[in-house]
Amino acid sequence: MIRFSNVSVTYPGGVHALRDIDLEIQDGSFVVVVGLSGAGKSTLVRAINGLVPLTSGSLEVNGRHVEQAGRRELRALRSEIGMIFQSFNLVKRTSVVNNVLMGRLHQTPTWRTLLGWYRPADRELAMQALERVEIVEKAYVRAANLSGGQQQRVSIARALAQEPKVMLADEPVASLDPPTANVVMRDLQRINRELGITTIVNLHFLDLARRYGDRIIGMREGEMVFDGTGEQADEKV
Ligand code: ADP
Ligand code: ADP
Repeated sequence: MIRFSNVSVTYPGGVHALRDIDLEIQDGSFVVVVGLSGAGKSTLVRAINGLVPLTSGSLEVNGRHVEQAGRRELRALRSEIGMIFQSFNLVKRTSVVNNVLMGRLHQTPTWRTLLGWYRPADRELAMQALERVEIVEKAYVRAANLSGGQQQRVSIARALAQEPKVMLADEPVASLDPPTANVVMRDLQRINRELGITTIVNLHFLDLARRYGDRIIGMREGEMVFDGTGEQADEKV
């Protein structure tokens, strides 16, 4: 469970990115956060893994209070959370499978893994993750040689290799064309259904949100202005 209680975030300089957010997200749900650029979507998801300090309020994630977490606890929290970004954030000069193995660094950051030696069990997990996003045939291709959609699926596999409880995707399809965006959204949805990983996806298009979100949160200027199903979502978002 993820629970925001009266959470506000004001950045240095005075931008109120989140204003008094109260929000509970149940384990296993698929939530889409929609809103224009600047609405506070990124701040909302980055707060969940402790990347943004709260100005006030409290935030509980998987039983931990993020605002009280020290370094050790933040590390444990982040190991349970897979992150997916608009820009994929792959290491382009190395292979797909090596990129996915980086998802294991959270679990086993020993001197061996830092040198690129992974246990066979880690390699197995990486290949399974690639199978799940249907891109295992590209395992030994350099990440640089993949299309945008393929790179995003590799980044999903990297997050999956972490065996996360929660997946946070910040505008994962913003740089993809519409058909590819649908493929990526379907992958995220399928993974949520098959593995029960709580998934939060930021989008700026309401049509995609309606199509995939079991629950839609609408943000505007740091406030939550909508919380409901796709059918209930209307033009006020
Ligand atoms: P969205 O993801 O919906 O585009 P953000 O959470 O990125 O919204 O941003 C919300 C507001 O906070 C915007 O006005 C943005 O410019 C501002 N903002 C975001 N990050 C920072 C930061 N690190 N420092 C100052 N202002 C920021
Ligand atoms: P987004 O994809 O959320 O729109 P941006 O491109 O606005 O992200 O922001 C990219 C980075 O710049 C983020 O790390 C964000 O925190 C930071 N940032 C955004 N707005 C500001 C701002 N007004 N002042 C300082 N940093 C900002």
